[in-house]
Amino acid sequence: MAQVNDIAIIGAGPVGLFTVFACGQLDLRCHVFDSLEEVGGQCAALYPHKPIYDIPGYPHIEASVLVSRLQEQAAPFEPTYHLQRRIVSLRGQDDYLVLGDEAGKEMAFKAVILAVGGGAFVPNKPPISNLAVFEDKSVFYRVTDPARFVGKKVVICGGGDSAVDWACALADKADVYVVHRRDKFRATPAMVKKLHDLHDRKKLTLVTPYMLESLDGDKDGTLKRVGVKTLKGDTKSLDADYVLAFFGLVSQLGPVRDWGLALKDNDVWVEPTTMATSKARVFAVGDSAGYDNKLNLILCGFSEASLAAQQIYRLLHAGKAPRFQYSTAKGDPKTYKEKQAR
Ligand SMILES: Cc1cc2nc3c(=O)[nH]c(=O)nc-3n(C[C@H](O)[C@H](O)[C@H](O)COP(=O)(O)OP(=O)(O)OC[C@H]3O[C@@H](n4cnc5c(N)ncnc54)[C@H](O)[C@@H]3O)c2cc1C
Repeated sequence: MAQVNDIAIIGAGPVGLFTVFACGQLDLRCHVFDSLEEVGGQCAALYPHKPIYDIPGYPHIEASVLVSRLQEQAAPFEPTYHLQRRIVSLRGQDDYLVLGDEAGKEMAFKAVILAVGGGAFVPNKPPISNLAVFEDKSVFYRVTDPARFVGKKVVICGGGDSAVDWACALADKADVYVVHRRDKFRATPAMVKKLHDLHDRKKLTLVTPYMLESLDGDKDGTLKRVGVKTLKGDTKSLDADYVLAFFGLVSQLGPVRDWGLALKDNDVWVEPTTMATSKARVFAVGDSAGYDNKLNLILCGFSEASLAAQQIYRLLHAGKAPRFQYSTAKGDPKTYKEKQAR
């Protein structure tokens, strides 16, 4: 391996983000990997607008705001974020570890911290037998290239924020149908109002309460039409060039199970004073780390991040413990990192 980096953090959830800070305080540089396109883990993907009441110092904080604050706190330590990079392999060498992603790209690290929560978030897929023929050709689970849809017939499935936001965004540019199994949408009220306004002005068509049932097209993945049905069994067919399927996300521990780590149920078992796993140089923090009486709370994950960082420092400095300091002893990370750089 040409270059061995300091630390890899797998998972950019709240605990992964605070781990950047905890490592940074000990001058350990971090690369952060996440399968999602944005940081924040469960806070960003599952409940961005929910208030959280048990973060010390914040009597009340919205999940998305907590994520922004954590990112801001980590920023002076200049982490390298690798988003949309799902790590699928981890193998140990004598004094470093090699991580591999889905595309086969590998990077080497002196230590790895698993902050993987319940596992990588992946899209919930509709149970349609020929789905694979159309995936990434005419069926997508996220929008990376909106220009692709201009002037096309786009069927958007789902009733949450992604479905509603994209339906409104594409209404002027494409022939948009919104298929949802209920009449009510679970999105920001202002956007739901906009969606209904666009429907009333015939800028898009709401197809409710219907569910996606079938895909019809060519073997090369070109879509022609989709079948939809109600719970009562009424069916109809819609001409379609593309489907955007927004059915939420599910987490899968997946490949982590094959990395030779001691596991208990869905947890990576750790020694709770160091967060060391059963594999040399691999640590686990946050929801993914298991030990007796573990609480899956963000604040517990923050403490675990500090313990793991301390232990990794010892590992990389021949067993020498870092000099214990309160954060104020070093000063504001924003300023002292700038001074260090000069
Ligand atoms: C509805 C709800 C409400 C909650 N309310 C609270 C609350 O009020 N207070 C509280 O303390 N906790 C709350 N929690 C729990 C809290 O969200 C979790 O404890 C916290 O998110 C754990 O953070 P984490 O960083 O360990 O993992 P996560 O937030 O789960 O993040 C893990 C990240 O790792 C990524 N990942 C996993 N595997 C891979 C891989 N192989 N490659 C690349 N990326 C990978 C995932 O995509 C994900 O982004 C709530 C949870 C839910 C669902």
